[in-house]
Amino acid sequence: MKRLTLLIDADDTVLDFKNSERDAIIALCEQYEIADKNGVADKFKQINRRMWDMFELGLVTREEIFYSRFEELFAFFGIDGKNIIEVGDQYRENMAHSRRIIHGARAFLRRISQNHDLYCVTNGITRTQKMRMKASGLGKYFKKLYISQEINLAKPSKEFFQYVIADIGAVDLDDIYIIGDSLSSDILGGINSGIKTILFNRENKKICDIRPDFEVKNYVQLERIIENLSK
Ligand SMILES: [Mg+2]
Repeated sequence: MKRLTLLIDADDTVLDFKNSERDAIIALCEQYEIADKNGVADKFKQINRRMWDMFELGLVTREEIFYSRFEELFAFFGIDGKNIIEVGDQYRENMAHSRRIIHGARAFLRRISQNHDLYCVTNGITRTQKMRMKASGLGKYFKKLYISQEINLAKPSKEFFQYVIADIGAVDLDDIYIIGDSLSSDILGGINSGIKTILFNRENKKICDIRPDFEVKNYVQLERIIENLSK
């Protein structure tokens, strides 16, 4: 059995970003006495997604996202008199304390970490991601976390993956795989840097022009593929 180097995305691959985000924004509404919690959470989800998509394309910086997402959100609902910097910081603080993981992630990581080397590759915020990995108890299954803010590079750039591969000291690209739920960051990044890709497609996303080498719907299928690839 070959020992594989598995680069694994964090959000919506093992950590439950969607529910963490919702918890964090609902808590924020309570902290700032904003009434329409569900409406605000739905709108925030849209704004946040669009901004992180723009980030992947290099159109905005991470620091711009921290605050401008709340400016836009509050403008939409006509909420004023809030200190945007404080709100932005509080939201990230709420996120950092989230323990939400995808059902089955813990058992999956525990099992595959026994035979393979796992590294987490995430486009998040250093403190938030480190705290979530610790709070959720998933951090211990990874040999190292590579966080875009910390290394100043981001998926899907080739440079991000080259940095990670060089730092790991991996020699054979054939034994490295990127596993993630995002076509535009994980899969495209793998394609850009010449490593094989496994799409974790829990939500049945439609695959168009960015094509992964493998596609799985759940951890059972993922574990089976890893087992076959390591033979
Ligand atoms: Mg993800």
